[in-house]
Amino acid sequence: MGKKSYKHIYTAFIHGGIYGDERTGAVNVPIYQTSTYEQIHLGQHTGYEYSRTGNPTREALEALIAELEGGVAGFAFASGMAAISAVLTLFHSGDKVIISSNVYGGTFRVLDKIFKNFDIHYSIEDTTDLEALEKSITKEVKAIFIESPANPLLTITDLKAVADLAKNHGILSIVDNTFMTPYLQRPIQLGMDIVVHSGTKYLGGHSDLIAGLVVVNQKELADKLAFIQNATGGILQPFDSFLLIRGIKTLGVRLDRHVENASKIADYLLKHPAVKKIYYPGLKDFPGYEINKKQAKNGGAMLSFELKEEYDIRKFYDGLELIALAESLGGVESLVCHPASMTHASIPYKVRQKVGITEGLIRLSVGIEHVDEIIDDLETAIEAAREN
Ligand SMILES: *Cc1c(COP(=O)(O)O)cnc(C)c1O
Repeated sequence: MGKKSYKHIYTAFIHGGIYGDERTGAVNVPIYQTSTYEQIHLGQHTGYEYSRTGNPTREALEALIAELEGGVAGFAFASGMAAISAVLTLFHSGDKVIISSNVYGGTFRVLDKIFKNFDIHYSIEDTTDLEALEKSITKEVKAIFIESPANPLLTITDLKAVADLAKNHGILSIVDNTFMTPYLQRPIQLGMDIVVHSGTKYLGGHSDLIAGLVVVNQKELADKLAFIQNATGGILQPFDSFLLIRGIKTLGVRLDRHVENASKIADYLLKHPAVKKIYYPGLKDFPGYEINKKQAKNGGAMLSFELKEEYDIRKFYDGLELIALAESLGGVESLVCHPASMTHASIPYKVRQKVGITEGLIRLSVGIEHVDEIIDDLETAIEAAREN
Protein backbone atom coordinates (compact mmCIF):
# COMPACT_ATOMS: atom_id res chain seq x y z
CA MET A 1 0.00 0.00 0.00
CA GLY A 2 0.99 3.63 -0.24
CA LYS A 3 3.96 4.23 -2.48
CA LYS A 4 4.92 1.67 -5.14
CA SER A 5 7.90 1.71 -7.43
CA TYR A 6 7.69 1.26 -11.18
CA LYS A 7 9.70 1.95 -14.30
CA HIS A 8 7.17 2.39 -17.07
CA ILE A 9 4.50 5.05 -17.38
CA TYR A 10 1.90 2.33 -18.15
CA THR A 11 2.45 1.14 -14.59
CA ALA A 12 2.49 4.69 -13.22
CA PHE A 13 -1.03 5.24 -14.58
CA ILE A 14 -2.20 2.48 -12.24
CA HIS A 15 0.23 2.65 -9.32
CA GLY A 16 1.48 6.24 -9.38
CA GLY A 17 0.69 8.94 -6.84
CA ILE A 18 -1.01 7.45 -3.80
CA TYR A 19 -2.15 3.88 -4.29
CA GLY A 20 -5.00 2.21 -2.38
CA ASP A 21 -5.99 2.57 1.23
CA GLU A 22 -3.59 1.72 4.09
CA ARG A 23 -6.32 1.17 6.65
CA THR A 24 -8.36 -1.45 4.80
CA GLY A 25 -6.15 -2.64 1.95
CA ALA A 26 -8.70 -1.40 -0.59
CA VAL A 27 -6.90 -1.17 -3.94
CA ASN A 28 -8.58 2.15 -4.69
CA VAL A 29 -8.27 5.39 -2.78
CA PRO A 30 -11.63 5.83 -1.02
CA ILE A 31 -13.96 8.70 -1.87
CA TYR A 32 -13.62 10.93 1.20
CA GLN A 33 -16.98 12.58 0.84
CA THR A 34 -16.55 14.98 3.75
CA SER A 35 -16.36 18.72 4.13
CA THR A 36 -14.63 18.79 7.50
CA TYR A 37 -12.43 16.74 9.86
CA GLU A 38 -12.62 16.39 13.64
CA GLN A 39 -9.61 17.94 15.36
CA ILE A 40 -7.67 16.00 18.02
CA HIS A 41 -7.11 18.88 20.41
CA LEU A 42 -7.35 22.61 20.10
CA GLY A 43 -4.55 23.55 17.71
CA GLN A 44 -3.85 19.92 16.74
CA HIS A 45 -5.41 18.31 13.67
CA THR A 46 -4.89 15.23 11.49
CA GLY A 47 -3.38 17.19 8.63
CA TYR A 48 -6.87 17.82 7.25
CA GLU A 49 -9.06 20.66 8.44
CA TYR A 50 -11.50 21.48 5.66
CA SER A 51 -11.95 19.91 2.22
CA ARG A 52 -11.46 23.10 0.22
CA THR A 53 -7.95 23.18 1.69
CA GLY A 54 -7.26 19.45 1.52
CA ASN A 55 -9.08 16.21 0.78
CA PRO A 56 -7.39 12.78 0.58
CA THR A 57 -9.16 11.71 -2.63
CA ARG A 58 -8.26 14.95 -4.37
CA GLU A 59 -4.72 14.71 -3.01
CA ALA A 60 -4.32 11.23 -4.51
CA LEU A 61 -5.24 12.65 -7.91
CA GLU A 62 -2.97 15.65 -7.44
CA ALA A 63 -0.03 13.43 -6.48
CA LEU A 64 -0.72 11.23 -9.50
CA ILE A 65 -0.81 14.02 -12.11
CA ALA A 66 2.30 15.66 -10.57
CA GLU A 67 4.15 12.36 -10.86
CA LEU A 68 2.97 11.68 -14.42
CA GLU A 69 4.02 15.14 -15.60
CA GLY A 70 7.25 15.07 -13.60
CA GLY A 71 6.40 18.25 -11.66
CA VAL A 72 6.72 19.09 -7.97
CA ALA A 73 3.00 19.48 -7.24
CA GLY A 74 -0.41 19.06 -8.83
CA PHE A 75 -3.71 20.84 -8.23
CA ALA A 76 -7.20 19.67 -9.16
CA PHE A 77 -9.93 22.11 -10.13
CA ALA A 78 -13.62 21.90 -10.97
CA SER A 79 -12.94 22.36 -14.70
CA GLY A 80 -10.18 23.04 -17.15
CA MET A 81 -11.28 26.68 -17.21
CA ALA A 82 -11.16 26.88 -13.40
CA ALA A 83 -7.59 25.52 -13.60
CA ILE A 84 -6.58 28.00 -16.32
CA SER A 85 -8.24 30.90 -14.48
CA ALA A 86 -6.42 29.96 -11.27
CA VAL A 87 -3.11 30.07 -13.14
CA LEU A 88 -3.98 33.46 -14.64
CA THR A 89 -4.56 34.90 -11.15
CA LEU A 90 -0.77 34.58 -10.68
CA PHE A 91 -0.57 37.84 -12.65
CA HIS A 92 -1.10 41.42 -11.53
CA SER A 93 -2.66 44.49 -13.07
CA GLY A 94 -0.42 45.85 -15.81
CA ASP A 95 0.90 42.39 -16.70
CA LYS A 96 0.51 40.87 -20.14
CA VAL A 97 0.32 37.24 -21.27
CA ILE A 98 1.22 36.11 -24.78
CA ILE A 99 -1.08 33.40 -26.14
CA SER A 100 -0.60 31.33 -29.27
CA SER A 101 -2.86 32.11 -32.19
CA ASN A 102 -5.13 29.13 -31.85
CA VAL A 103 -5.60 28.45 -28.16
CA TYR A 104 -8.80 26.95 -26.81
CA GLY A 105 -11.68 29.41 -27.25
CA GLY A 106 -12.41 29.51 -23.52
CA THR A 107 -8.83 30.54 -22.72
CA PHE A 108 -9.13 33.43 -25.15
CA ARG A 109 -12.56 34.36 -23.75
CA VAL A 110 -11.52 34.44 -20.09
CA LEU A 111 -8.58 36.70 -20.95
CA ASP A 112 -10.56 38.92 -23.30
CA LYS A 113 -13.74 39.28 -21.24
CA ILE A 114 -12.64 38.87 -17.63
CA PHE A 115 -8.92 39.31 -16.93
CA LYS A 116 -8.78 42.36 -19.18
CA ASN A 117 -11.19 44.07 -16.76
CA PHE A 118 -8.55 43.57 -14.06
CA ASP A 119 -5.95 45.18 -16.31
CA ILE A 120 -4.28 41.85 -17.12
CA HIS A 121 -3.79 41.90 -20.88
CA TYR A 122 -3.00 39.45 -23.63
CA SER A 123 -1.54 39.51 -27.09
CA ILE A 124 -1.98 36.85 -29.72
CA GLU A 125 1.22 35.76 -31.42
CA ASP A 126 2.25 33.09 -33.88
CA THR A 127 4.31 31.02 -31.45
CA THR A 128 5.69 28.90 -34.29
CA ASP A 129 7.69 31.95 -35.38
CA LEU A 130 10.27 32.17 -32.58
CA GLU A 131 11.93 35.34 -33.84
CA ALA A 132 8.65 37.26 -33.96
CA LEU A 133 7.71 35.77 -30.61
CA GLU A 134 10.89 37.02 -29.00
CA LYS A 135 10.32 40.50 -30.44
CA SER A 136 6.84 40.58 -28.88
CA ILE A 137 8.23 40.12 -25.35
CA THR A 138 7.95 43.64 -23.96
CA LYS A 139 8.58 44.45 -20.30
CA GLU A 140 4.86 44.00 -19.44
CA VAL A 141 4.90 40.41 -20.69
CA LYS A 142 5.04 37.98 -17.75
CA ALA A 143 4.20 34.68 -19.46
CA ILE A 144 3.81 32.80 -22.72
CA PHE A 145 0.76 30.51 -22.79
CA ILE A 146 0.73 27.92 -25.56
CA GLU A 147 -0.90 24.75 -26.77
CA SER A 148 0.88 22.18 -28.88
CA PRO A 149 -0.86 20.78 -30.81
CA ALA A 150 -3.10 23.84 -30.71
CA ASN A 151 -6.83 23.77 -31.11
CA PRO A 152 -8.29 23.20 -33.74
CA LEU A 153 -5.59 23.41 -36.45
CA LEU A 154 -3.15 21.19 -34.53
CA THR A 155 -0.41 23.77 -35.00
CA ILE A 156 2.84 22.64 -33.41
CA THR A 157 4.97 24.94 -31.27
CA ASP A 158 8.49 24.00 -30.21
CA LEU A 159 8.01 23.56 -26.45
CA LYS A 160 11.69 23.50 -25.55
CA ALA A 161 12.42 26.59 -27.62
CA VAL A 162 9.56 28.51 -25.98
CA ALA A 163 10.61 27.32 -22.51
CA ASP A 164 14.19 28.50 -23.19
CA LEU A 165 12.98 31.82 -24.54
CA ALA A 166 10.80 32.38 -21.48
CA LYS A 167 13.68 31.48 -19.17
CA ASN A 168 16.02 33.90 -20.92
CA HIS A 169 13.50 36.69 -20.41
CA GLY A 170 12.69 35.72 -16.82
CA ILE A 171 9.02 35.03 -17.58
CA LEU A 172 6.81 31.98 -17.11
CA SER A 173 6.08 29.36 -19.75
CA ILE A 174 2.65 27.73 -19.55
CA VAL A 175 1.31 24.94 -21.75
CA ASP A 176 -2.14 23.44 -22.08
CA ASN A 177 -1.31 19.74 -22.53
CA THR A 178 -4.93 18.54 -22.87
CA PHE A 179 -4.54 17.22 -26.44
CA MET A 180 -1.46 15.12 -25.64
CA THR A 181 -1.60 14.14 -21.94
CA PRO A 182 1.61 13.15 -20.10
CA TYR A 183 1.51 9.82 -21.94
CA LEU A 184 2.34 11.45 -25.27
CA GLN A 185 4.12 14.61 -24.18
CA ARG A 186 5.79 15.76 -20.94
CA PRO A 187 6.38 19.53 -21.22
CA ILE A 188 8.03 20.01 -17.79
CA GLN A 189 10.82 17.69 -18.98
CA LEU A 190 11.31 20.12 -21.86
CA GLY A 191 11.63 23.07 -19.48
CA MET A 192 8.07 24.44 -19.28
CA ASP A 193 7.07 25.90 -15.90
CA ILE A 194 3.35 25.16 -15.72
CA VAL A 195 1.21 22.50 -17.37
CA VAL A 196 -2.58 22.81 -17.40
CA HIS A 197 -5.14 20.22 -18.41
CA SER A 198 -8.78 19.87 -19.06
CA GLY A 199 -9.17 16.52 -17.27
CA THR A 200 -12.57 16.38 -18.96
CA LYS A 201 -10.91 15.07 -22.11
CA TYR A 202 -8.42 12.15 -22.47
CA LEU A 203 -7.50 11.92 -18.78
CA GLY A 204 -11.11 11.29 -17.74
CA GLY A 205 -11.63 9.59 -21.08
CA HIS A 206 -15.31 8.68 -20.86
CA SER A 207 -17.14 12.00 -21.38
CA ASP A 208 -18.63 11.69 -17.90
CA LEU A 209 -16.99 14.46 -15.88
CA ILE A 210 -15.65 18.01 -15.98
CA ALA A 211 -12.28 18.58 -14.31
CA GLY A 212 -9.09 20.61 -14.56
CA LEU A 213 -5.51 20.09 -13.44
CA VAL A 214 -2.39 22.19 -12.96
CA VAL A 215 1.17 20.91 -12.49
CA VAL A 216 4.11 23.18 -11.63
CA ASN A 217 7.85 22.64 -11.81
CA GLN A 218 9.03 24.51 -8.68
CA LYS A 219 8.16 24.91 -5.01
CA GLU A 220 7.60 28.66 -5.19
CA LEU A 221 4.91 28.21 -7.83
CA ALA A 222 3.47 25.26 -5.90
CA ASP A 223 3.04 27.43 -2.80
CA LYS A 224 1.37 30.18 -4.82
CA LEU A 225 -0.99 27.76 -6.56
CA ALA A 226 -1.90 26.04 -3.27
CA PHE A 227 -2.77 29.47 -1.87
CA ILE A 228 -4.80 30.42 -4.94
CA GLN A 229 -6.63 27.07 -4.98
CA ASN A 230 -7.67 27.44 -1.35
CA ALA A 231 -8.38 31.16 -1.54
CA THR A 232 -10.46 31.18 -4.73
CA GLY A 233 -11.94 27.73 -4.06
CA GLY A 234 -12.56 26.21 -7.52
CA ILE A 235 -11.63 22.72 -6.29
CA LEU A 236 -12.53 19.34 -7.77
CA GLN A 237 -14.99 17.31 -5.67
CA PRO A 238 -14.01 13.94 -4.13
CA PHE A 239 -16.24 11.83 -6.37
CA ASP A 240 -14.98 13.54 -9.51
CA SER A 241 -11.40 13.15 -8.25
CA PHE A 242 -12.07 9.43 -7.92
CA LEU A 243 -13.53 9.26 -11.45
CA LEU A 244 -10.50 11.04 -12.85
CA ILE A 245 -8.08 8.67 -11.06
CA ARG A 246 -10.11 5.80 -12.49
CA GLY A 247 -9.93 7.26 -15.99
CA ILE A 248 -6.17 7.74 -15.81
CA LYS A 249 -5.62 4.05 -14.99
CA THR A 250 -6.56 3.15 -18.59
CA LEU A 251 -5.02 6.20 -20.29
CA GLY A 252 -2.19 4.20 -21.88
CA VAL A 253 -4.34 1.49 -23.47
CA ARG A 254 -7.02 3.93 -24.53
CA LEU A 255 -4.62 6.36 -26.15
CA ASP A 256 -2.79 3.58 -27.98
CA ARG A 257 -6.06 2.71 -29.70
CA HIS A 258 -7.12 6.36 -30.18
CA VAL A 259 -3.84 7.10 -31.95
CA GLU A 260 -3.87 3.91 -34.03
CA ASN A 261 -7.37 4.77 -35.26
CA ALA A 262 -6.49 8.43 -35.85
CA SER A 263 -3.51 7.63 -38.04
CA LYS A 264 -5.58 5.21 -40.14
CA ILE A 265 -8.31 7.84 -40.52
CA ALA A 266 -5.73 10.48 -41.43
CA ASP A 267 -4.46 8.20 -44.21
CA TYR A 268 -8.01 7.62 -45.40
CA LEU A 269 -8.79 11.36 -45.49
CA LEU A 270 -5.46 12.21 -47.10
CA LYS A 271 -6.28 9.98 -50.08
CA HIS A 272 -9.92 10.99 -50.28
CA PRO A 273 -10.83 13.03 -53.39
CA ALA A 274 -13.43 15.07 -51.43
CA VAL A 275 -10.91 16.33 -48.88
CA LYS A 276 -9.34 19.71 -49.55
CA LYS A 277 -7.08 19.95 -46.55
CA ILE A 278 -6.13 17.84 -43.59
CA TYR A 279 -4.43 18.82 -40.35
CA TYR A 280 -2.84 15.96 -38.41
CA PRO A 281 0.59 16.16 -36.73
CA GLY A 282 1.24 12.46 -37.44
CA LEU A 283 1.38 13.04 -41.20
CA LYS A 284 4.90 13.42 -42.63
CA ASP A 285 4.17 16.54 -44.66
CA PHE A 286 2.29 18.33 -41.88
CA PRO A 287 4.23 21.56 -41.17
CA GLY A 288 5.00 20.76 -37.50
CA TYR A 289 5.69 17.06 -38.07
CA GLU A 290 9.42 17.10 -37.24
CA ILE A 291 9.09 19.28 -34.14
CA ASN A 292 6.18 17.23 -32.87
CA LYS A 293 8.17 14.04 -33.42
CA LYS A 294 10.98 15.49 -31.34
CA GLN A 295 8.78 16.47 -28.39
CA ALA A 296 5.88 14.00 -28.41
CA LYS A 297 5.46 10.27 -28.71
CA ASN A 298 3.24 10.56 -31.80
CA GLY A 299 0.63 12.72 -33.53
CA GLY A 300 -2.17 12.18 -31.01
CA ALA A 301 -5.77 11.45 -31.91
CA MET A 302 -7.22 14.82 -32.87
CA LEU A 303 -7.47 15.85 -36.49
CA SER A 304 -9.20 18.53 -38.53
CA PHE A 305 -10.07 18.66 -42.20
CA GLU A 306 -11.89 20.65 -44.84
CA LEU A 307 -14.04 19.27 -47.63
CA LYS A 308 -13.87 20.76 -51.14
CA GLU A 309 -16.27 23.59 -52.09
CA GLU A 310 -18.73 21.30 -53.83
CA TYR A 311 -19.51 19.58 -50.52
CA ASP A 312 -22.11 20.96 -48.13
CA ILE A 313 -20.83 20.64 -44.59
CA ARG A 314 -24.34 20.87 -43.09
CA LYS A 315 -25.24 17.73 -45.01
CA PHE A 316 -21.98 16.17 -43.87
CA TYR A 317 -22.85 16.67 -40.18
CA ASP A 318 -26.42 15.46 -40.79
CA GLY A 319 -25.10 12.42 -42.62
CA LEU A 320 -23.13 11.10 -39.66
CA GLU A 321 -24.75 8.33 -37.67
CA LEU A 322 -22.12 6.78 -35.42
CA ILE A 323 -20.03 9.89 -34.86
CA ALA A 324 -21.79 12.40 -32.64
CA LEU A 325 -21.85 16.13 -33.32
CA ALA A 326 -20.78 17.50 -29.95
CA GLU A 327 -18.39 19.81 -28.16
CA SER A 328 -15.54 18.18 -26.26
CA LEU A 329 -13.04 15.50 -27.21
CA GLY A 330 -10.90 12.74 -25.83
CA GLY A 331 -13.68 10.35 -24.86
CA VAL A 332 -13.92 6.73 -25.99
CA GLU A 333 -16.60 7.71 -28.54
CA SER A 334 -15.76 9.58 -31.74
CA LEU A 335 -16.99 13.16 -31.76
CA VAL A 336 -17.06 15.71 -34.51
CA CYS A 337 -17.41 19.46 -34.10
CA HIS A 338 -17.65 22.64 -36.15
CA PRO A 339 -15.05 24.94 -34.52
CA ALA A 340 -16.28 28.15 -36.19
CA SER A 341 -19.77 27.90 -34.63
CA MET A 342 -18.99 25.77 -31.57
CA THR A 343 -15.68 25.58 -29.66
CA HIS A 344 -14.22 28.72 -31.25
CA ALA A 345 -17.38 30.81 -31.66
CA SER A 346 -16.19 33.16 -28.90
CA ILE A 347 -13.28 34.19 -31.14
CA PRO A 348 -14.34 37.07 -33.43
CA TYR A 349 -14.92 36.17 -37.10
CA LYS A 350 -12.00 38.29 -38.29
CA VAL A 351 -9.56 36.67 -35.89
CA ARG A 352 -10.83 33.22 -36.87
CA GLN A 353 -10.28 33.98 -40.58
CA LYS A 354 -6.83 35.31 -39.86
CA VAL A 355 -5.70 32.19 -38.02
CA GLY A 356 -7.39 29.75 -40.44
CA ILE A 357 -10.45 28.57 -38.53
CA THR A 358 -12.65 28.63 -41.63
CA GLU A 359 -16.39 28.02 -41.85
CA GLY A 360 -15.66 24.71 -43.58
CA LEU A 361 -13.33 23.31 -40.95
CA ILE A 362 -14.36 20.01 -39.35
CA ARG A 363 -12.67 18.77 -36.16
CA LEU A 364 -12.69 15.09 -35.35
CA SER A 365 -11.89 13.53 -32.00
CA VAL A 366 -11.17 9.95 -32.99
CA GLY A 367 -12.64 7.45 -30.56
CA ILE A 368 -11.77 3.82 -29.88
CA GLU A 369 -14.61 2.18 -31.79
CA HIS A 370 -13.58 -0.22 -34.56
CA VAL A 371 -11.78 1.98 -37.07
CA ASP A 372 -13.62 0.46 -40.07
CA GLU A 373 -16.92 1.61 -38.63
CA ILE A 374 -15.66 5.15 -38.06
CA ILE A 375 -14.41 5.28 -41.65
CA ASP A 376 -17.70 3.86 -42.99
CA ASP A 377 -19.58 6.58 -41.15
CA LEU A 378 -17.30 9.31 -42.57
CA GLU A 379 -17.68 7.85 -46.06
CA THR A 380 -21.48 7.84 -45.86
CA ALA A 381 -21.55 11.44 -44.60
CA ILE A 382 -19.12 12.65 -47.29
CA GLU A 383 -21.30 10.99 -49.94
CA ALA A 384 -24.37 12.71 -48.47
CA ALA A 385 -22.59 16.05 -48.51
CA ARG A 386 -21.85 16.05 -52.24
CA GLU A 387 -23.93 18.68 -54.02
CA ASN A 388 -25.87 17.14 -56.96
C1 LIG B 1 -11.86 21.59 -23.06
C2 LIG B 1 -10.62 22.32 -23.03
C3 LIG B 1 -10.35 23.29 -22.06
C4 LIG B 1 -11.39 23.69 -21.02
O1 LIG B 1 -11.64 22.65 -20.13
P1 LIG B 1 -13.05 22.43 -19.38
O2 LIG B 1 -12.80 21.19 -18.59
O3 LIG B 1 -14.09 22.28 -20.44
O4 LIG B 1 -13.28 23.64 -18.55
C5 LIG B 1 -9.13 23.92 -22.07
N1 LIG B 1 -8.20 23.61 -22.99
C6 LIG B 1 -8.40 22.71 -23.94
C7 LIG B 1 -7.32 22.42 -24.93
C8 LIG B 1 -9.61 22.02 -24.00
O5 LIG B 1 -9.81 21.12 -24.98
